[in-house]
Amino acid sequence: MSMTSVLPDVRTFLERRHGLYIDGGWVASSGEARLPVFDPASGEKISSVADATEQDVQRAVQAAKASFLSGPWRGMPPVARERILLRLADLVERDAEILAQLETLEQGKSITLSRILEAGSSQAWIRYVAGLATKITGQSFDVSIPLPPGARYAAYTRKEPVGVVAGIVPWNFPLLIGVWKVLPALAAGCSVVAKPSETTPLTMLRLAELATEAGVPDGAFNVVTGSGGVAGEALVQHPDIAKVSFTGSTPVGKRIARNCASRLARVSLELGGKNPAIVLADADVDRVVGGLTLAGFLNQGQVCAACSRVYAEASIFDRVVAGLQQAVTGMSIGPGMDETAQINPVASQAHQKRIQSYLERAEKAGAEILSGPPAPEGRGFYVPPALVVKPDDTLPLVREEVFGPVMTVTRVANAEEALVRANDTPFGLAASVWTGSLQAAMELPPLLQVGTVWVNSHVMIDPNMPFGGMKESGVGRDFGTGWLDAFTETKSICVRY
Ligand code: NDP
Repeated sequence: MSMTSVLPDVRTFLERRHGLYIDGGWVASSGEARLPVFDPASGEKISSVADATEQDVQRAVQAAKASFLSGPWRGMPPVARERILLRLADLVERDAEILAQLETLEQGKSITLSRILEAGSSQAWIRYVAGLATKITGQSFDVSIPLPPGARYAAYTRKEPVGVVAGIVPWNFPLLIGVWKVLPALAAGCSVVAKPSETTPLTMLRLAELATEAGVPDGAFNVVTGSGGVAGEALVQHPDIAKVSFTGSTPVGKRIARNCASRLARVSLELGGKNPAIVLADADVDRVVGGLTLAGFLNQGQVCAACSRVYAEASIFDRVVAGLQQAVTGMSIGPGMDETAQINPVASQAHQKRIQSYLERAEKAGAEILSGPPAPEGRGFYVPPALVVKPDDTLPLVREEVFGPVMTVTRVANAEEALVRANDTPFGLAASVWTGSLQAAMELPPLLQVGTVWVNSHVMIDPNMPFGGMKESGVGRDFGTGWLDAFTETKSICVRY
């Protein structure tokens, strides 16, 4: 065991009486209610945040609207916005250890993962999107308008910021996904009201403070902490929210889409997945086992693109199961602050119970479950990693997104059967193909109904590679050079001369 000691700055942050972050500073909620924040490793309360009311949301949206209409952000030269956002990335780098520790303490994930994927990757994504601020372009057109006879026209388009954006963030990668929901909106010149999950609100509050320090003007980046049912609903239904950028579950995503549809507000949805891996007979077993162990159990499987269903051809199936079983049973389990623990608690007690109930139902139905090491004693929200071998396809654990350290492994006759079963789901986020054949590596990806396919890899993302879902896994794509399009409106301007 190698425990990271909690920094004094982290303790101070946890002990603060956090308010809401509105108009560049801390504001008390109009209500008295507080939301506790728990350490998933111990089940202990470590902090609390304001439980925002509808009036609080109103105040935050008003501040964002005033900043959008009359503040300096939107009209700044793009290079000035870029410079401020690059400075924000430098501040995240400066405070990386504070942010990483806060993330592990509120979310449960390994401190190593928090350092690499929350504090580390957040800097990379902020820098990438900062660069897009200076690359917003329209087009010019030759037009053939016939009236009045002899008139001449020139036409061009401008990309203009869409307005006030609501960024709604889940609890699995609170800082990194928080960056994905807030930063492209800022880079495009929008103002933002962010709502982190009530389970993991702390790093978003810290990010907002750092944004002010970097020079983001007051009101351009606001944070309301609160429940989805009150603060989230009030935000999505607010008439001054022009666009909602959401990552989270499919049921909540559908509800948000319905709420946005009533006033035709723009919406992008990055939702859940039930992501298959197809392992063909000629795959490299060691690479498959290493890659799928990471893809299935990283962050305790609380990853929207995690591999949760493996379909392996008959001749390789036993070797894949044996390798995965060895990997799962050999894992160490412990608190996220222990740098050597490979499996850590899941984010909340409610989620722990939800995963356990999927496993219990599968066990009752007679599924073969190969479990990893038992959870440590105590009140932490642990779920040991589990492989479910050859499960019945009708089990909820096979059909629904479990979002935990649970992977099913199914034997298939050939690639055709694997494809049919892989696509037999309402989800369409991601998939992988494992093979030594160039032919299969080229033929299979176009046949998978998902937004991302990895070949001989799974769950690897990059700011320059668009990411998002088909079917019920979402609408729109995050990342890539076109990322800011979803935060702008195209305006055509036609000049008669
Ligand atoms: P939710 O979809 O409920 O939460 C995501 C965010 O939406 C949170 O900030 C939540 O707030 C907020 N929210 C909830 N209800 C509303 C609403 N009516 N209007 C506006 N915002 C709302 O996910 P959960 O956290 O409950 O997780 C449940 C499941 O969702 C997981 O088990 C997993 O299957 C999936 N999930 C998928 C993710 C992905 O990356 N694709 C990420 C997280 C979850 P609050 O948390 O305060 O309720």
